[in-house]
Amino acid sequence: MVLLLDGGVGHEWKKAHGDASFLGGALACETDPARTGVPSLHVKLSWPNGQGEGVAAVHEAFFAAGADVATTNSFVATPHHAGDRAVPLVTAAARCAQRAARSTAQPLPAMRKVAGCLPPLGECYAVRRDRSDADAAVYEQLAFALADEKVDVLLAETLTHSSEAANVILGVKMASLKRGYRLPLWVVFTLADDATGRLRGGERAAIAIQRALDAADGAGVLLSGVGVNCCAPGAVDAALADVVEVAEGREVIVYANAFESTTSEWLKKEGRPDCCGKPCRGNPREYVDGVMTPDAYARRAASWARRGATVVGGCCGTTPAHTKACRVLFDRQRRRSRFFGYLTFLAVVLAVLARALGPALALALAEKRVWDEL
Ligand SMILES: [Zn+2]
Repeated sequence: MVLLLDGGVGHEWKKAHGDASFLGGALACETDPARTGVPSLHVKLSWPNGQGEGVAAVHEAFFAAGADVATTNSFVATPHHAGDRAVPLVTAAARCAQRAARSTAQPLPAMRKVAGCLPPLGECYAVRRDRSDADAAVYEQLAFALADEKVDVLLAETLTHSSEAANVILGVKMASLKRGYRLPLWVVFTLADDATGRLRGGERAAIAIQRALDAADGAGVLLSGVGVNCCAPGAVDAALADVVEVAEGREVIVYANAFESTTSEWLKKEGRPDCCGKPCRGNPREYVDGVMTPDAYARRAASWARRGATVVGGCCGTTPAHTKACRVLFDRQRRRSRFFGYLTFLAVVLAVLARALGPALALALAEKRVWDEL
C-alpha cells in the first residue's frame, strides 16, 4: 500500500495568514504567544488568539483530504533561522502535528503518522558539501526534540548533498546512543529541476542515496526510506528508476513541487544557480495560475506509485486539494489491483481444479461412451 504524505503545510499557512515568512508558521505552533526573544523576522507577525490552532488546522485539512502522514512544520526551526528558539519551536511543531493526527474532528483513520522534519541547517538549497560535527550536533538536538514528542519517523528532507545526509545520520546516531531511541529515518534529497537525475549539489541521486545507505549502515542507524523531493515533477520522472533500484526494498519517497516556474530558475535569478541543465517545466496545460492542477499532479503521483514509489506526497505549492486528488487515484489503483488480484486467484483455482478433475472427467466420459455403445 502506498502511504500518502501531506503537502506544502508552510505555504498553506502563509497563504492563510498573509505572512511572508515560513518561520511565522513555525512560531505559530507555540502555545504561548507572549514569549519574548522572537527573532526579528517575526516582529511583524500578528498574534491572533489560538494561533497554535492555525498550523494544527492546516495539518487537519491535509489529513481530512486523505493524507496518512503529516510532516512537522519546523522546516525553518533551525539555529540559522531561529537562533536558540529552534528546539522549542521543533517541540511545538511536533505537538501541533500530533494534535492534528489525534484529532477527533475528522473520522480517524487507523494509521495516521507524524514525520519529524530534519531540514537543511543553512539557507534552503545552499549546498553543504562538508562533513560537520557542529551540524551533526544540531541534528542530534533536533532529533532529541522530535523523539521526545514521539514522532513516528524522522524525515531529513530537501538535502542537497550526501555529506549533509552523513551529518544527519551522525546526529541521529548520537541521539540514539544517548537516549536509547531507535527511530526509523527517511533521507530525501532535492533534485535539480532537469532530467539528469542529479541533486542540486551535483551528485547523481542514486550515488548520493547509496552513500547515505553506507553511512547509515556504518553508524547502525535504521535508514528505512530514501527518495527525492522539492523539484519539478519531471525531475522525479527522470530519477525515479535509479532511486527505486538503489533503495533495494526500503521505502521510496517522492514529493515534488507544484509551481510552474522551477526552483532552479529562481535560484539562477537569485545569483546562486544550482547544477541544473535545461529546466524540465511541465506541460503548460497542466497548470492554472502558475500552479499544477490537483488532477494533473495526482496523475503524476499515481504514475510514481506504479513505478515503485511507496511514500508519495506533495511539496511546495501543493494543497489539500492536491492531496485529495491523489487519495482518489490511489484508492482507485488499490481497488483495481485488488480486483485483478481476485481474478488471478480465481484463475489459479480454476486451473488447479481443471488439473485435478480433468483425468476423472475424461474417465467418466469414456465410461459413458462404453455404456452408450452397449
Ligand atoms: Zn518544495
